[in-house]
Amino acid sequence: HNPEEERRKINDRMAQVKHKICVLSGKGGVGKSTVAVNLAVALAEAGRRVGLLDVDIHGPSVPTMLGIGPVLLTGTNESIQPVCVGSLNVMSVGFLCEDADNPFIWRGPMKMGVIRQFLGDVEWGELDYLIVDCPPGTGDEPLSICQLIEEPSGAVIVTTPQQVAAVDVRKSLRFCEKLSMPVLGIVENMSGFTCPKCGEVLDIFLSGGGESMAADFGVPFLGKLPIDPAVGRACDSGRPFIQSHAASETARLLNDIIEPL
Ligand code: ADP
Repeated sequence: HNPEEERRKINDRMAQVKHKICVLSGKGGVGKSTVAVNLAVALAEAGRRVGLLDVDIHGPSVPTMLGIGPVLLTGTNESIQPVCVGSLNVMSVGFLCEDADNPFIWRGPMKMGVIRQFLGDVEWGELDYLIVDCPPGTGDEPLSICQLIEEPSGAVIVTTPQQVAAVDVRKSLRFCEKLSMPVLGIVENMSGFTCPKCGEVLDIFLSGGGESMAADFGVPFLGKLPIDPAVGRACDSGRPFIQSHAASETARLLNDIIEPL
């Protein structure tokens, strides 16, 4: 490949997108994809033109969360059509996987190739928002994504309240600092559990880690989202929580979190 040509293609595509938001997390399983999907759906429902790019190479969960079965991608060598879910344009590394049970065994350069193709070759068109569900951590993959996107609006960092996760989120914050990536805010997910029987909020993990971290680093704190079994069920069912449980308290909290974005 010709790196300069690729770079130009990516820049041309990305120039048509007003807001480019990377959703990051220090580690996997904290709800990064859940936040990315619900953010994208909420923005699309509000009438914005939205693209959702899932480049979580090791655990692409966007197809499941949006109920997208096996798809045959269409396009040419240089242009790939995104998959439309309602008005949302979606591209996921999961679409390249023939069998959901088989993980990708790709070496670094192949992963980078796919990431560059998804940014440069997908026919995103003119968008108000591109939400990028990044691989977890602060390694090569999230690094190259963040570097390939010129003038990103910033990053949303998702964490859980445990101390360990908080150490990871500090790394994510430093990562953004080094890349001069603005931090749009921190989301503290799985923060407490509302007992469905008595309504009492139980702090299963230590609560408040994300909030104090945001204060320490002087970045916005977007809010807390409790553990809600309905969120997990919605993810598995392929109907985004923010749509399927629009009237719930958790959806209200989720809306408050994504409102400032
Ligand atoms: P990540 O992208 O960080 O790996 P996911 O968004 O895939 O994490 O979430 C991991 C799992 O946790 C999924 O099964 C999801 O349904 C579930 N989950 C995420 N947030 C919540 C929540 N607030 N309450 C209950 N389950 C959640």
